[in-house]
Amino acid sequence: MTRADSKARLERLRRWDRSSAGTPCEIRNRADAVRREMLEDSARIHRGNFTRIGTEDLALLFEAYDRQFFSGSLSAALSDPERSRIGFRLSSRMTRAGGKTFRFPASGGRPPVYEIAISSHLLFTNFTEPGAKVAVNGVACRDRLDALQRIFEHELIHLVEFELIGRSSCRSAGFRERARRVFGHQATTHQLETVQDRAARGMGVSVGDRVAFRFDGRRLEGRVNRITKRATVLVNSPTGERYTDGGQYDRYYVPLDQLERA
Ligand SMILES: [Zn+2]
Repeated sequence: MTRADSKARLERLRRWDRSSAGTPCEIRNRADAVRREMLEDSARIHRGNFTRIGTEDLALLFEAYDRQFFSGSLSAALSDPERSRIGFRLSSRMTRAGGKTFRFPASGGRPPVYEIAISSHLLFTNFTEPGAKVAVNGVACRDRLDALQRIFEHELIHLVEFELIGRSSCRSAGFRERARRVFGHQATTHQLETVQDRAARGMGVSVGDRVAFRFDGRRLEGRVNRITKRATVLVNSPTGERYTDGGQYDRYYVPLDQLERA
């Protein structure tokens, strides 16, 4: 592939970027077409609330989006006879962000390569209750596949910006404008509901709240100091560690579903 070829392909993506827009109805139809392709072609995803997913599914999703939304201009811009310039990864460790796009800069005159990582953790800890709706990027998602698509769309905007202008931030006005124009996103965020959000929603518990829990058959009361997968609760104790507020506390790690408000 010559330099002129790759320039022409980048120009094609630039043209797509300038002209791409859809009415809410057109955007929904394209996203539905992607959904149908996934349900038909994926070896693992057979229903909206799928229970298994592989990195091949992310590659499949990329191809479907490239066809339905980009008229092939995204894969064309990224094509390179020597190596693949886009990789995919599922992460069970990403507990706050639904997705992330990484850019590995060009070296030795070669174009940059990219990786899109998707949080399997957030996908599978959401949509566990029937009828649950979760908003991603300001769009209500009925199931896991819906949420995966909204997250993936956000990452595709990062990818386009990286390729066209070399940098990308979802806090920029340009990003928000593209995300709205191409995918109809009303808000831009990396987040699905996190364990912390769920704690706040399900039990109305947040950092600083007074809570009660059972420990060794006793009922203890304390204050929530931190929330991760469990809550850190500080309970007054004359033999406890001294904290900056002057109080002495024992620290307990309590699963969120065992907390109640005190
Ligand atoms: Zn982002």
